[in-house]
Amino acid sequence: MPFNTINNEILDRLRAIVGQANVLTDEETRIICASDMTEDHVFMPAVVVTPETAEQVAAILRICNDHVIPVTPRGGGTSLSGGSLPVEGGVVVWMKRFDRIIDIDELNLQATVEPGVITEVFQNAVKEKGLFYPPDPSSRGTCFLGGNLAHNAGGPKAVKYGVTRDYVLNMQVALPTGELIWTAANVLKNSTGYNLTQLMCGSEGTLGIITRIVFKLRPLPRRDVTLLVPFTTGEEACRAISAIYMAGIVPSGMEFMERDAIILTMKYLDEVLHKPVTIELPDHINAHLLIELDGNDEDTLMRDAETITQVLENFETGEVYFAESAEEKESLWRLRRNVSPGVNSYSLTKSEDVVVPRSNLPALVSAIKAIGDRVGFRSVCYGHVGDGNLHVNIMKEQGSDAWWHNEVNEGIADIFREVVRLGGTLSGEHGIGIAKRPYMHLAMQEANLRLMRGIKAAFDPNGILNPGKVF
Ligand SMILES: Cc1cc2nc3c(=O)[nH]c(=O)nc-3n(C[C@H](O)[C@H](O)[C@H](O)COP(=O)(O)OP(=O)(O)OC[C@H]3O[C@@H](n4cnc5c(N)ncnc54)[C@H](O)[C@@H]3O)c2cc1C
Repeated sequence: MPFNTINNEILDRLRAIVGQANVLTDEETRIICASDMTEDHVFMPAVVVTPETAEQVAAILRICNDHVIPVTPRGGGTSLSGGSLPVEGGVVVWMKRFDRIIDIDELNLQATVEPGVITEVFQNAVKEKGLFYPPDPSSRGTCFLGGNLAHNAGGPKAVKYGVTRDYVLNMQVALPTGELIWTAANVLKNSTGYNLTQLMCGSEGTLGIITRIVFKLRPLPRRDVTLLVPFTTGEEACRAISAIYMAGIVPSGMEFMERDAIILTMKYLDEVLHKPVTIELPDHINAHLLIELDGNDEDTLMRDAETITQVLENFETGEVYFAESAEEKESLWRLRRNVSPGVNSYSLTKSEDVVVPRSNLPALVSAIKAIGDRVGFRSVCYGHVGDGNLHVNIMKEQGSDAWWHNEVNEGIADIFREVVRLGGTLSGEHGIGIAKRPYMHLAMQEANLRLMRGIKAAFDPNGILNPGKVF
């Protein structure tokens, strides 16, 4: 169905819902909402609306549905797949005023929040009560909990504790038709009908706008140990991962950084953030694993760390570095958390987020390098490899725009073909958005896509919500 454009009558009706000050047509606000953190895309919305209540969100959707006007939900705008880009213009619903932590229920280990709460703010609020919300995207200082749910965000802790979808019990959602629903109940077990909560997780703002969330929490682990292990090659580092699991250890973080990722991030931390981190990089070292163990018993953690060092004796490593103090641990994690902005600061990049069974990571790394050599690009790899999730940043350091859009995209398709051949899929945590949409057929059967389109039509018969995304 073709979309209609916004006229003055619609603007007046939006103002009647959220007030004049929250219907923003100025260029500055529209430019902010025209892009996210994905490559170099810009799509201008006609208007940005900043509601404050679920009822307001539902009313906005009802009007837009009646008039067939596209609506794009926006959280922190940190998507790396173009999820929050208003590709058809229309209305951006920016959830930044939904920023309240409503309740932290210590008796039930649950919390009720609005979707515009910044992830790190929530993590710190529960930590003050001795509780733990494990999903931990590296963008935690700027992304919102609602965006995390819509992309099913992961991060380093996912390797032991799972991803965002593993922590949501219930959510309130404004449907594209303007109805307001709760997806489930605030309970730990639920076999009551289809699981709409899980359907919303990772739905990338295409099925409904999340307006309230009930999360489950865990007790905060009291101790942790952090190791940085240098390896001669990326493949060698990836081989060590499975060996560590086979020794019976489940780390709370298992992060991979190639040599180039570390060099560019150290430069960025020094030159841009003025918070330098220095680690030794001898010539023969080409990759590192950052490994974290957590728990409550120091002796157990030290024994597990000892087991890891014994396992590593079978691999080509450099000297293992144990972070002793809180400052040393913080600086290693500062390095890791800044790899994405670090790498992206020095070149236009295409950022992939593939995932394979972890025993296939060595083969994947070799294949990516071979494809890069053939097409002529440098790839910088890093990621949450404990759960098989590898980020591949392809650098545009040379070459024409035509090469970048044609040959490089064909090279990316070859990477995805290899990922699927190795039993993996296109995205582990960043979502499909517009960036991976052209490649969905490589990972999905036609029947899967037909089912997904059917679900979309059931939620959003006029196709107004976040059009142009996923498929
Ligand atoms: C430096 C950097 C590091 C990153 N590290 C990680 C990482 O470690 N792990 C990881 O998983 N991701 C990571 N990301 C990607 C990104 O931060 C996540 O995808 C994050 O979850 C997006 O949240 P956001 O609030 O910024 O969402 P946005 O970018 O605003 O939106 C993302 C999607 O969610 C939808 N959406 C937003 N709010 C709602 C809502 N209330 N209801 C329904 N739909 C909504 C949007 O329409 C869009 O489709 C990183 C990004 C950057 C820039």
